[in-house]
Amino acid sequence: MTTQMETAETDDPIDTTLTKATPWKPQIKYHYVFFQLYFHVAAIYGVYLALTSAKWQTNLFGYAMIWINSFGIYAGAHRLFSHRSYKATRALQIFLMLCHSTAYQRNLFLWVLEHRLHHKYSDTDGDPHNPSRGLFFSHIGWLCCKKHPEVVKRTKNIDMSDMYSNPVIMFQKKHQQWLLPTLAFILPTLIPMVFWVESFTNSWHINAARYIMSMNTVFLINSVSHKWGYKPYDKNIRPTESKIISMITFGEGFHNYHHIFPNDYRDAEFGNSLLNVTTYFIDFCAFLGLAYDLKVVPKDLVKSRMTRAGNGSEMELLDKTVY
Ligand SMILES: [Zn+2]
Ligand SMILES: [Zn+2]
Repeated sequence: MTTQMETAETDDPIDTTLTKATPWKPQIKYHYVFFQLYFHVAAIYGVYLALTSAKWQTNLFGYAMIWINSFGIYAGAHRLFSHRSYKATRALQIFLMLCHSTAYQRNLFLWVLEHRLHHKYSDTDGDPHNPSRGLFFSHIGWLCCKKHPEVVKRTKNIDMSDMYSNPVIMFQKKHQQWLLPTLAFILPTLIPMVFWVESFTNSWHINAARYIMSMNTVFLINSVSHKWGYKPYDKNIRPTESKIISMITFGEGFHNYHHIFPNDYRDAEFGNSLLNVTTYFIDFCAFLGLAYDLKVVPKDLVKSRMTRAGNGSEMELLDKTVY
């Protein structure tokens, strides 16, 4: 079921020649700032309504939507499409594309492009959410302004041929204007209203809370996971490991590991950890025959990297890990 990788190298080597953060005056995208301000306020109201007047079915539905959009982001946009760490049948690709659309994080093509830039030019001016510009910029500030010129310039260096040739990706890109709002906002608002007669106010705002909570959770990986935590695999890079982040991001908080071994489908050395729900999801898809060629980094390679460049933490946990 799994494929042992011969080397740990990513197929797109890291470029470290760029400056970390040159002086730059960003151009603010005010429409996006207002969009986010509105949805953050609506989300706070949504949490209040969820605790006071919403039907339990609406809250349960909102919780289920968090799982759906999370699998779209973590198993789909990240581990499948950005890193090709496993292969998926067309049916699973379509399912993950639809799940991803419910997260309303723009289209998969753009998500993958920016994530590949993030890995290739990590923590420099070529990184779209360059953490060297501070916690706010790496969290959401980067989306509120026009791209840094180095990001624009380096875009042409990213191989996106697999995305161009994937009809699922191109379908979502072509139809994003109606597909994304329908799946992220219109249907999740209508379903509670139609099936258990929830009010529009409750339904809309609780879905807004779902959208904002899951979006900020994903963004924590770009901000907090590049600032605080352990560095068992390379103490000289910014990305870190955090069990708390892993718990709330369905297993994506082993970020020091991920930046060293980005093509491992488990996205973590502790692939069998209870924190890594996304890995269980991919394993379940493999059990159903929907996912295959799951790439894993051999334990010896992981261990030698930890010995050579890590900060000495978590060595004992690696020995206990079942491969
Ligand atoms: Zn990162
Ligand atoms: Zn990644």
